[in-house]
Amino acid sequence: MARKTIIAGNWKMNLLPLQGEELALGLKEGLVNKPNLEVVIIPQTALIPLAQDWVMDCGMQLGAQNCSNNLSGAYTGENSPELLRAFGCTYCLVGHSERREIFNESNEFIGQKAQTLISMNITPIVCVGESLEERESNKHIDKILGQIQAVFDQVDQEGWSKMVFAYEPIWAIGTGKTASKEQANEIHQIIRQHIIKIAGESAGKSASILYGGSAKPGNAKELLNQSDIDGLLVGGASLKVEDFSKIIEAF
Ligand code: PEP
Repeated sequence: MARKTIIAGNWKMNLLPLQGEELALGLKEGLVNKPNLEVVIIPQTALIPLAQDWVMDCGMQLGAQNCSNNLSGAYTGENSPELLRAFGCTYCLVGHSERREIFNESNEFIGQKAQTLISMNITPIVCVGESLEERESNKHIDKILGQIQAVFDQVDQEGWSKMVFAYEPIWAIGTGKTASKEQANEIHQIIRQHIIKIAGESAGKSASILYGGSAKPGNAKELLNQSDIDGLLVGGASLKVEDFSKIIEAF
């Protein structure tokens, strides 16, 4: 199965309704000649019911930034994947480093969320990545593969080929410091080989692995041209129509 190329914009905790609408509608024109590209906008949860209209009829997909590991029940303040699906979400981030670090989310918890999303037919975008300290002490590969293994431990076998991964070195997120294309591609190849080892050839070869960490118009093309980089997860540069449109244009 050919791998999907995905460019996803993580808006984080930014943008009010009118700003979100202006941004989403401003992107539509750039999508016209991109039938082989999946563009996903990932607004704050409260914007999702509105964003359903913004993505309508243009092929753009809607994602969420986080969800509960349960479908319903006494979990005050959480967001059910069932509700996200009802509002048209087809993707959801899990394990973004901000969730892991600020909200202490564990590998196991993140794996449970991935499984719950798959049960609702929402594609989890599982984020993994190392800190600068881990890279400098050469512990980065163990860290990343441990994060991936933990997700496969929680996801049923039927879900193994339904996940998307995002390699996001923490030292590159929001810092303006991008991993070089060689650094990124090397880690993507290691991730793919690991998926092949634990989940089989077909799951590994068909898994889309995105790069995230200060992706911008100036580096999007060289990153997208790498053999094992199947798309981009974009934070800061997804908040401006011009920048995100140029990133889309780079495909
Ligand atoms: C992110 O937070 O997922 C991200 C990639 O952010 P930025 O592009 O701003 O580094």
